[in-house]
Amino acid sequence: MNPRLPSPRILLGPGPSSVSPAVLQSAATAPIGYLDPELFELLESVRNDLRLLFGTSNAFTIPLTGTGMAGMECCLANLIEPGDRVVIGVNGFFGGRMVEIARRLGAEVTQVDAEWGTPLEAGMFLPALKSSSPVKVVACVHAETSTGVETSIAPIAELAHSNGALFLADAVTSLGGMPVECDKWSVDACYSATQKCVGAPPGLSPITISDRAMAAMEGRSKGASHWYYDWKLLRGYYDAPHAYHHTVPINLYYTLAAALNEIKTEGLEERFRRYREVSAQLLNGLEEIGVLPFAAEKCRLPSLNTVVIPDSVTDEAGLRSALLREYGIEIGGGLGALKGKIWRIGTMGAAATPRNIVLLLAALRLLLKR
Ligand SMILES: *Cc1c(COP(=O)(O)O)cnc(C)c1O
Repeated sequence: MNPRLPSPRILLGPGPSSVSPAVLQSAATAPIGYLDPELFELLESVRNDLRLLFGTSNAFTIPLTGTGMAGMECCLANLIEPGDRVVIGVNGFFGGRMVEIARRLGAEVTQVDAEWGTPLEAGMFLPALKSSSPVKVVACVHAETSTGVETSIAPIAELAHSNGALFLADAVTSLGGMPVECDKWSVDACYSATQKCVGAPPGLSPITISDRAMAAMEGRSKGASHWYYDWKLLRGYYDAPHAYHHTVPINLYYTLAAALNEIKTEGLEERFRRYREVSAQLLNGLEEIGVLPFAAEKCRLPSLNTVVIPDSVTDEAGLRSALLREYGIEIGGGLGALKGKIWRIGTMGAAATPRNIVLLLAALRLLLKR
């Protein structure tokens, strides 16, 4: 008997986002071996397209096996040695996760806080960078999915570099949804995930690493204690001599290749515009039914819309579950201190269409009247 598979959904939450039929169908192609020359051909094209999305010419740009958290842990683990000083900006849930991982790696972490719902600013990092011992890595999240806020990372990267530190950025909710310019902004290491703005299923974490970050990893006083996510070992598979490292998730590569192909067909600028337009349509429609934006206009993400739950809603989790059960539409609740206070509505991937917004608004209108 076949397993019971889930019902169709419109995914307008913080991720995963809905995947197009073409991307989905590509997964049903037969897997080939992880050393098959045709796989490396496909991989070359995927890596080139990822460079385009990341705005970089970094040689080491790969679809890492694992989700966004794998990218986060991999980048931190390669860059950080126990005892290293690390400065991390935190203006939401995911910045907090970076701190947690860096601490587990034995780093001496200085946390730079900005209020949840506001962006980080370069000036906030200054005191931590001016102290006597050198800082190895400065890190923060570009697009904070927990609050719907964009941080301008170029000035923070510049400040990090002028103080001799490397800069690491989380682009999980920005890559493929808004400009990410790693070379122009001088980002040394950056990771993302395929299931948000890229429009592929979860399971891969695109990462891009600058030569400077690679050199820092190679210059570590001790080799990394981790093995699976060691950049040096990974490079031996993705580049010549293409030595076996682990069995890469070949069928997910098919889906990523198909999703990147859709992005190129749509055009990056066109895609960014679609996200902005759909986001504006959503926020305008919500305003008409008394649901107002949480993040300020100047730092709002086009891919992740945060809105304040109206006081009249006494059971917001119940409303979201009715939305899912009755209309097949998923939206997200708040995280941490914002739990019960905001909704997080993603306009990412194949779900970001005017039609889906009309459906969501109509459903919310009915549910808010109950
Ligand atoms: C979703 C997300 C992550 C984690 O990604 P997973 O794919 O869930 O592991 C990390 N950072 C940000 C900003 C995210 O939105």
